[in-house]
Amino acid sequence: MDLYTEGDPIADTKAPEGPIETRWDRRRFEAKLVNPANRRKMTVIVVGTGLAGGSAAATLAEQGYRVKSYCYQDSPRRAHSIAAQGGINAAKNYRNDGDSVHRLFYDTVKGGDFRSRESNVHRLAEVSVNIIDQCVAQGVPFAREYGGLLDTRSFGGAQVQRTFYARGQTGQQLLLGAYQALERQIGLGNVEMNARHEMLELIVVDGKARGIVVRDMVTGEITTEFADAVVLASGGYGNVFYLSTNAKGCNVTATWRAHRKGAYFANPCYTQIHPTCIPVSGDHQSKLTLMSESLRNDGRVWVPKAKGDTRSPKDIPEDERDYYLERIYPSFGNLVPRDIASRAAKNVCDEGRGVGPTGLGVYLDFADAINRLGRKAIEAKYGNLFEMYERITGEDPYEVPMRIYPAVHYTMGGLWVDYDLQSTIPGLFVVGEANFSDHGANRLGASALMQGLADGYFVLPNTIANYLAAGPFDKVDASHPAAVQARADVEDRIQRLLAVNGDRTVDSFHRELGQIMWEHCGMERSATGLRKAIDEIRALRDQFWQRVRVPGNGEGLNQSLEKAGRVADFFELAELMCIDALHREESCGGHFRAEHQTPDGEAERDDERFAYVAAWEFTATGEPSVLHKEDLKFEYVHPTQRSYK
Ligand SMILES: Cc1cc2nc3c(=O)[nH]c(=O)nc-3n(C[C@H](O)[C@H](O)[C@H](O)COP(=O)(O)OP(=O)(O)OC[C@H]3O[C@@H](n4cnc5c(N)ncnc54)[C@H](O)[C@@H]3O)c2cc1C
Repeated sequence: MDLYTEGDPIADTKAPEGPIETRWDRRRFEAKLVNPANRRKMTVIVVGTGLAGGSAAATLAEQGYRVKSYCYQDSPRRAHSIAAQGGINAAKNYRNDGDSVHRLFYDTVKGGDFRSRESNVHRLAEVSVNIIDQCVAQGVPFAREYGGLLDTRSFGGAQVQRTFYARGQTGQQLLLGAYQALERQIGLGNVEMNARHEMLELIVVDGKARGIVVRDMVTGEITTEFADAVVLASGGYGNVFYLSTNAKGCNVTATWRAHRKGAYFANPCYTQIHPTCIPVSGDHQSKLTLMSESLRNDGRVWVPKAKGDTRSPKDIPEDERDYYLERIYPSFGNLVPRDIASRAAKNVCDEGRGVGPTGLGVYLDFADAINRLGRKAIEAKYGNLFEMYERITGEDPYEVPMRIYPAVHYTMGGLWVDYDLQSTIPGLFVVGEANFSDHGANRLGASALMQGLADGYFVLPNTIANYLAAGPFDKVDASHPAAVQARADVEDRIQRLLAVNGDRTVDSFHRELGQIMWEHCGMERSATGLRKAIDEIRALRDQFWQRVRVPGNGEGLNQSLEKAGRVADFFELAELMCIDALHREESCGGHFRAEHQTPDGEAERDDERFAYVAAWEFTATGEPSVLHKEDLKFEYVHPTQRSYK
C-alpha cells in the first residue's frame, strides 16, 4: 500500500492581497464584527492556558464572550510556557541598531528557510511591538538598563538586539501577566476555569467544531462540553521523541484528536533541535534541560582541534581550540540560527572532536565574557541558568565551560490554519505552538513567545469574530448523536487501554518510540532510515496495543492511563512525521535530508518542487493520509541559499 496519496491543493482563502504592510489592517477592517450584546450570548472553549491560550481566553472574556478554559495542570499558571527562559522578540528598535518591522519580517522568513507565509510573518512582526507595550502595562518585569529603559539582547539569526527578557525566566514572567489577566476574568465570572481536565476528543456537529469531550483527571468523570467555537492552544509535540526540553506533560492529544476529526496537520516533520542543551548523561533520563540561547550572546562555542583530545578544557591552549561557529560563520558567529548551530555541533562530534564522557558535547565557554565584563555582570544576566547547570551537572560554569549538545525543543508543525487561525474544521481555531505557525522550517529564538502572545492577545480576538458573527449557533447538548458518539469513543478507548493488561510499561514504549524517532527522524534524515522508522513504529505500535500494562482503573487519578492515551497518539503522529519527512525530498531548516546537502554540508532546498506547506488529511485508521499542498508565494523576500557566513 502507498504511504500516502495526493489530493487537491489547499489555499488560504482568508489571506488578504495588496501591499504587505496594509494586509493585516485590511483583514481586520473587512472581517465581520460581533456587537457587544451578542458577544454575551456566545461561548468559546479554549483548551490550554499557556501564553497562547491564557492570553486568548483573557482577551476573549474581556471582549465580552463567555469562555470555558481547560488545562491538565493543577493551575493555569503551570502551563509549559512557564519554562521559557531567554526572551521575546519585538521590532521596537530601542537600540537604534537598524531594526524595523521589515527587518524582523525578513529575518523570520529567511530564518524559516523560506517555508513560511509572508503575510503571516509580516503580521507577526507588526504585532510584536504591541506585545511589549501590553506586557509592560500588565507589569511584566522586563530587564531594564541602569537608566530605566527596557534592555534587550541578541538571539540567533539576527544582527540586531531585539530580544526583551526577564533574566532567564521570561516565560514565567509573561505567563504571570497573562495569568493575572485570566484570573481577573475568572473573578468577574466571564471565564469558567477547569484545571486538571484533559480534552480527549473534539465534537463536530454539521461540519462545525461545537465542543469537546473532557476527562476530569481527579475523579475520572467524562463529560461533554459545548460552545459556539473551539480554540486549541495545546502546545507542541516535541515529546514524541521522549527526550526533549519540553515539560513531561506536553503531548499531541488535543491536536491529534482534532486531526482525526478532519483538521489537516501541516508540516509535521519540522522539528526544532536546539543546539544548547545539557547533554544526555545516561538512559535513566526522562527529560533534557535547555540552556537558553541567550547564553550565546556571551558564551563562545568550541571543541578541541584534535580528535580524541581528552584533556581538561583549561589545559587546551587557545591555538588548539576550534571556535568553529566563529570560523565557519564569521558574520553571525555564535549567533547563527539553531538549525545551523545544531548541525555544526553534530558535525564536529561526528568527526570525533566532541567533549565529555560520551563525546556528544561541545563547550560553551564564558571565560572571555567573565574577563571582559566581570563575574557579577554575567551573574546578573544568567545567574539562574548557571545555577541550574551546576545543580544538574555538578560543574561550576563560572570556572569550567558548560558542555552542551543539541536536543529536541520545539515543533514548527501543527494543525494547518488559515490567516484567521482557523483550521480546516469551521469553528476550530488553533493558536500558539499547536498550529503550524509562522516559523516555516526553523524557528528563530525568542519567536515562540512572540507568536503565542500575538495569536492570543491580538490576532485571534479579531479574526474569530468573523466566524462568530454568524452565531450564536443552534444549541447542542449531550444528547446530540455526535456528542454521544464522541463520548462513547473516549470511553471505549480508555477501556481498551485498561483491558490490554500486558507486561510492559507505557514509559518503556514511549522511550523506544523516542529512540526510533531520534535515530531516523531527528537531526539528520534519509530515505532508507525513514522507511525503516515507519516499519519499526508500526511494529512497536502493534506491540503497544498487545502488551501495554496500565495499572488501576479509569475512575480516579491514574497517571499511567493519562500517559497511555498520549503515547497511543504519539505513535500515530510519529508515523505521519516520518511520511512527511520522507516525501519532502529536500533539506530545509530543521528538516535535514542527508541526500540533499550543498558541497559544504548546508541544507539544500528544492524551491521548484517543495515551496509549499504540506497539509495532511486523515482518512481512516490504517488508510494512507492525503497530502494537500499550499503553494507559498514570495513577493518581498526572495528565496536564496541562506547564508550566515
Ligand atoms: C525550556 C524551554 C525554553 C523556552 N524558551 C523560550 C524563549 O526564551 N523564547 C521563546 O520565544 N520561546 C521559548 N520556548 C518555546 C515556548 O516556551 C513555547 O513554544 C510556548 O511557550 C508554547 O506556548 P503555548 O501557549 O502554545 O503552549 P503551552 O505553554 O505548552 O501550553 C499548552 C497548554 O495546553 C494545555 N493542554 C494541552 N493538551 C491539553 C489537553 N488535551 N486537554 C487540556 N489541556 C491541554 C496544557 O495544560 C497547557 O495549559 C522555550 C521552550 C522550552 C521547552
